[in-house]
Amino acid sequence: MHKVVREGLERIERELSEYHEAFESRKVLVAGGAGFIGTWVCRTLLRLGAEVVCVDNFASSLPENVEELLSQQGFTLLKKDVSKPLAAEEVGRVNIVLHLASRAAPPEFDSFPVETLLANTVGTANLLELSRACDATFLFASSSEVYGDPPPNYVPTPEIYTGNVNPVGPRSCYEEAKRCGEAFAKAYEKQYGLDVRIVRIFNTYGPYMRAEGIYGRVVSRFITQALANQPITIYGDGSQSRSFTYVTDLVNGLLRATCCDKARGEVINIGSEREIKIIELAHLIKKLTRSSSEFKFEQPPPDDPRRRCPDISKAKKLLNWTPKVGLEEGLTYTIEWFRDKMS
Ligand code: UDP
Repeated sequence: MHKVVREGLERIERELSEYHEAFESRKVLVAGGAGFIGTWVCRTLLRLGAEVVCVDNFASSLPENVEELLSQQGFTLLKKDVSKPLAAEEVGRVNIVLHLASRAAPPEFDSFPVETLLANTVGTANLLELSRACDATFLFASSSEVYGDPPPNYVPTPEIYTGNVNPVGPRSCYEEAKRCGEAFAKAYEKQYGLDVRIVRIFNTYGPYMRAEGIYGRVVSRFITQALANQPITIYGDGSQSRSFTYVTDLVNGLLRATCCDKARGEVINIGSEREIKIIELAHLIKKLTRSSSEFKFEQPPPDDPRRRCPDISKAKKLLNWTPKVGLEEGLTYTIEWFRDKMS
């Protein structure tokens, strides 16, 4: 295991020290467990003494992300698409269901809009049915994309902002699907009294993130371009902004939302309060990698949100959570991981 991953897992474990009992000897189904965030979640849960059932169809995730977990006690892998029904008999009685199974990169929405919609709508319904059959706690990994492109007076964006989404736009298969997934979770709570929790995840980065082809996101693309001294591709003029959370902070927030009593039935933003323009991110990554890359300005993707930054007062209050890893620090870890992977 890479040093950066080991240290990251140790950090999460320390931060969750008061919640160990919530996961110890619990059986947790992690849908999308072989993905970027999923693999961190599976690894953390195993360290906390949970039994983990990873369900993944490897549509956008990688078998190698869970390969070293296969020999670990308490870990099982089920290769399956969540948009197909999942019976309790297939996985056994689970206590907690975490739905992290979705494509997440904008170019994937373009190539696989149907699968993206199905995973977050039908997939959510299927996992809610399983949760109901097992009387399990259900957590839906929603997204800042439910807000679409919020106006400036709603940035930082609080959970009460209801969104500005084009239902037939190029990102709608993801945005509307996440909104529908949230509606499904709330419907199961209302009609069946299920214990559901929703987290809206803002841009997250770190080791295990993919960089290649349609799977690449801005941080992984910029880092791999910079390390190869290739041009750094900035879409538009780079004045659009995002807020980036290091993956260990995200996992800490997500698992707190899963087990804190106060999070039951709630919708909670998990993200960083530090908003940064994409051009500034490019400069920062160039500096941290000591790269000689040039900047290449390209056509921006359609409907690219201008700004994205969460209001995290609710996470602070209900989960006693704040992100701890600063952007320079998290980027340094991520660069170290990519540097070793590329060498
Ligand atoms: N972006 C960029 N160059 C790239 C990839 C992305 O300038 O090579 C921009 C993209 O247009 C967006 C931001 O970086 O404004 C974040 O993109 P990402 O794909 O990571 O996720 P998003 O936040 O759009 O879902």
